[in-house]
Amino acid sequence: MRRGGAFAATGEGGFAVEPSDMERLIIIGSGPAGLTAAIYAARANLAPVVFAGYQYGGQLMLTTEVENFPGFPNGILGPELMESFRTQAERFGSKIENVDVTKVDFSVRPFVVWAGDERYEADSVIVATGASARWLGIPGEEGLRGRGVSTCATCDGAFFKERHIVVVGGGDSAMEEALFLTRFASKVTVIHRRASLRASKIMADRALAHPKIDFIWNTAVVGASGEFHLESLTLENLLTGAVSTFAADALFIAIGHDPNTKIFAGQLELDPSRYIVSPDGVHTNVPGVFVAGDVQDIRYKQAITAAGMGCKASLEAEKYLEELDAERAAGGLVSSGAL
Ligand code: NAP
Repeated sequence: MRRGGAFAATGEGGFAVEPSDMERLIIIGSGPAGLTAAIYAARANLAPVVFAGYQYGGQLMLTTEVENFPGFPNGILGPELMESFRTQAERFGSKIENVDVTKVDFSVRPFVVWAGDERYEADSVIVATGASARWLGIPGEEGLRGRGVSTCATCDGAFFKERHIVVVGGGDSAMEEALFLTRFASKVTVIHRRASLRASKIMADRALAHPKIDFIWNTAVVGASGEFHLESLTLENLLTGAVSTFAADALFIAIGHDPNTKIFAGQLELDPSRYIVSPDGVHTNVPGVFVAGDVQDIRYKQAITAAGMGCKASLEAEKYLEELDAERAAGGLVSSGAL
């Protein structure tokens, strides 16, 4: 589609970039954090460009009923909620591109972002790339992905009508997946590595009381086997060390998420778990690059907290851009190349 900033030689100082040829704000990610940032930024007339990814909408696109997003007393489907976020962001002038960002350069000004086949430049960036489901990393898992082994019940659950399904994990995601899968399965077995659940009480109580769900405690799934599709799991009792074989038609893994920060390695400070480091949940170590949502949130990881962070990141980006404009008006802009 386009472009990079138009560069005009200015002599010794390098190249001046015409501000009108750059984006003011690029938002990377289109979950609740990215799209809330887009709504705020668009209403501030920043005409943000949102790189939504080929699979836009974030984790809520893989969710069924969302019961705890304020304003929806009867719940709302995750994809429906994200469609509303998107419509609202577009209504005020956000430009949403369903492409993945493949590379960034935050060591130069303006910042450079490669998305799809194009190179873009921007005065500021909000990173809201979220997190992706974690896999167990056990033998057999990779080869059986899509053939009985999955991390997405809403995507793949319907393939297992009247089958015995195993869910691994003890958090809200695992309980949500297990409850959802009871619609299809003859039986759902939750296998958890400890003897108590991490899930919220309401979700845990629902799963524990469900007639189709049973639990195996203190047990790890250490292997997956099957010729064409999953047939059995190898389990290890973590108290006794006993290893056993467990017949199952499907394995849904719900053991948390890892932040989507691969493209930011070497560009932004990451912690040992690869989350973006942000002392206040908004600023990164690069002035002008802000962060929002699960990509920096180890603790809360809720749609509503992500949306709140998106709002904050947008307000901070707006403030940053005002200051940048003031500096430019005072005659200071020299850009491109090294800082
Ligand atoms: P989580 O709360 O981090 O739970 C992950 C679960 O997987 C834990 O029980 C953990 O065991 C287990 N686990 C982690 N690594 C494992 C491994 N290698 N092998 C076996 N088990 C492993 O993640 P989550 O359930 O995805 O939830 C993330 C956040 O989203 C939470 O804040 C949650 O409240 C929220 N959420 C909310 C809803 C809702 O309200 N409807 C739905 C989904 C998610 P341990 O318990 O031993 O650590």
